[in-house]
Amino acid sequence: MTVSSDPLTPDIGARRPFDIAAIRRDFPILRRRIEGEPLVYLDSAASSQRPVQVLAELTRFYRDHNANVHRGVHTLSVEATELYEGVREKVRALIGGASEREIIFTSGTTASINLVAHGWARARLGPGDEVVISEIEHHSNIVPWQMLRDDRGVVLRVIPMSPDGTLDLDAARAVIGPRTRLLAITQVSNALGTVVPVRELADLAHDAGALVLVDGAQSVPHMPVDVNELGADLLAFSAHKMLGPTGVGVLWGRMEVLESMRPLMGGGDMILTVSLERSTWNEIPHRFEAGTPNFADVVAFGTAIDYLRALGLDAVRRHELDLIDHGLAVLGDVPGLTLHGPRDAHRRGGVFSFSLEGVHPHDVGQLLNSQGVAVRAGHHCAQPVMESLGVAATTRASVYLYNTRSELDALSEALRRTARFFGDAGS
Ligand code: PMP
Repeated sequence: MTVSSDPLTPDIGARRPFDIAAIRRDFPILRRRIEGEPLVYLDSAASSQRPVQVLAELTRFYRDHNANVHRGVHTLSVEATELYEGVREKVRALIGGASEREIIFTSGTTASINLVAHGWARARLGPGDEVVISEIEHHSNIVPWQMLRDDRGVVLRVIPMSPDGTLDLDAARAVIGPRTRLLAITQVSNALGTVVPVRELADLAHDAGALVLVDGAQSVPHMPVDVNELGADLLAFSAHKMLGPTGVGVLWGRMEVLESMRPLMGGGDMILTVSLERSTWNEIPHRFEAGTPNFADVVAFGTAIDYLRALGLDAVRRHELDLIDHGLAVLGDVPGLTLHGPRDAHRRGGVFSFSLEGVHPHDVGQLLNSQGVAVRAGHHCAQPVMESLGVAATTRASVYLYNTRSELDALSEALRRTARFFGDAGS
């Protein structure tokens, strides 16, 4: 099968070495103006933008190859199946898994974590067994475990965060112990940007005989992640935060862990045989993908992975570290601004969560929007973090591979104007 390339879509390979001007040209939305100002998009932790290559692949798939996947005898279905299944290998190569059969497509990180909570943990854990999470988790890595606790009597234990938003290894040692069955931990906090020492925590968990589930929603898009180096047994992440379409996520798991997991949903595609009395499951990963999968978006996700790998995740991380350094400097100069999270750039992802004295975070967000700057305001689905900081909400600016130092300068300038506006209004 040949997939013809579109002459109007720039070749992904030409982005190396990291050419920020060329990269930005791949994202037409970055040319938009908001309220008459050039858009400064600083909300990629919530969802990234998509390059033309991904948009073109989506169109090309629907235009040239569209048909339902699996067991189709006709050409289009065979092509669609090959394209869909081919993305498993791209994901495997991205994260260093042992086999593409270990890649399960879900609708996102949330669905992936819930699959582990209700497909693996519900059947295997009972009263007295402990699941360890941390205080800096996203709600999607808290609530499923609370459901399990309430239904199954599983004990939920929490590694507390230090005032700077980091996780203390000694505190972790006090929480992870002989009853721990699962450590479910984020690699990068979406609310604070903290990079968590997952390997050290995973070693503690493994020494205790527990499995390790890593929430990679904020790490896999931004830095090289290798499941072996990380010491993960399971890894969850979302396509929409890494240049791919919405509605696609991944659960990777070591094969023997996946073999001990039950499917959550029954239906077409996940079975081998069905009689009115009983059914047998299809092989892994198909047994976890009941119903028609989101095949077109998965195919376009493959192009997003091609894009990231062509740039190199190490180059993406280097670019972001430069932005983090610069962001720490220019935000540090804004009067009345308190930046939350670690001081050290190397312990941070590209997330700046802050409070501006005397101004509600939502007002900050709105005033920034009126100056073209798109940020998020709220609890960022991490209410325990907000509680620990003693705030109801923060304003969050987050960067990705297409952002520039001058955009962070624009943020800093817009914040100064915002502070002046509220200062004047209050005086
Ligand atoms: N975990 C983290 C750390 C996140 O940042 C997010 C998304 N904000 C999620 C989980 C949930 O991802 P999704 O909404 O794509 O399922």
